[in-house]
Amino acid sequence: MEIKFERFHLQSDLRSPLKGFEMISVPTEVRIDPLTKRRSRIITWGLPSQGKFDFSKMAEESKECFFCPDNVLQKTPQFLKEIVPEGRICIGRAVGFPNLNPVGSYGSVVVLCPEHFLHLNQFTPEIYEEGLSVAIEIIQRTMAFDPDTRYWQISQNFLHPGGSTILHPHLQVIGDPIPTNEMEWLLDASSSYTQRNGTLYWKDLTQIEKGLGKRYITPIKNVHWFVSFAPIGFNEVCGSVEGHGSITTLGKEEIASLAKGIVSTLKYYYEKDLNSFNFSITSISGETHHQLLIRIISRTPLQPYYLNDYTSFEVLQSELTANIIPEELCREIRPYFP
Ligand SMILES: [Zn+2]
Repeated sequence: MEIKFERFHLQSDLRSPLKGFEMISVPTEVRIDPLTKRRSRIITWGLPSQGKFDFSKMAEESKECFFCPDNVLQKTPQFLKEIVPEGRICIGRAVGFPNLNPVGSYGSVVVLCPEHFLHLNQFTPEIYEEGLSVAIEIIQRTMAFDPDTRYWQISQNFLHPGGSTILHPHLQVIGDPIPTNEMEWLLDASSSYTQRNGTLYWKDLTQIEKGLGKRYITPIKNVHWFVSFAPIGFNEVCGSVEGHGSITTLGKEEIASLAKGIVSTLKYYYEKDLNSFNFSITSISGETHHQLLIRIISRTPLQPYYLNDYTSFEVLQSELTANIIPEELCREIRPYFP
């Protein structure tokens, strides 16, 4: 196996006004992802928490939105009759329909629950089980109509820092006949890994991380939950679903495992006074080197004098930063998982 955990230690020396202008050294670590070779910068300082943000006014002012129970079956778009004759897909309390403002070939929204707003500790595994089941049904029916649509993302953008204008919890389900940048990087790198080693990268990574024990959180059924060696966002938690490349082949137990991992991660974020997050599930059919992957990251929380976490470093230098040492995050988040 050729998985290498490469890192560079950088150090900045300066005379600090906080210590009478004595010299201090501030370390930074640059880590290289073993698969994609993408660099991440791990900073060892963070801004202190400002406590929990009071969402009551914002939730009150924005309620009765298009996703609220009185409107969701009246004012949201319907699927083409050839794809979903009944117009929308409802499972439990989740409702799926096309996105009025799509960004690709097939864009859908899944409203997760009737509640207009939930704190991160109020999301339950059932909410995600139903939401993901609707997403899977959308993907299956769309692929039956258009089999070339092999590349899918199931994502959640929660609150304004995560890129959502609507408070009401919802998923985005996006399918295209071409991959995103991230999908292409993952596919290219994992395919050349298999050519060189004769094995599946994700299988090897799981085995190594389990053995090291520093970043492997826990398995839930056949979903391996871990913290990446070189995260591409704050408080990043990943889940890799053994034996599946596409979400369409998951059974009930595997969907429940994904839901449990998401909810466990959100509970940890809540305890840390975080409130905004993104996740994305990368689901690709017909690629033997790919393994279904979910990546969850926190965003800087919504708060007075909100600070965006994407600076020139991320948007213009393509170098992503993380503000907690991955091994420390793994140690802290483990008790939140079943
Ligand atoms: Zn609403």
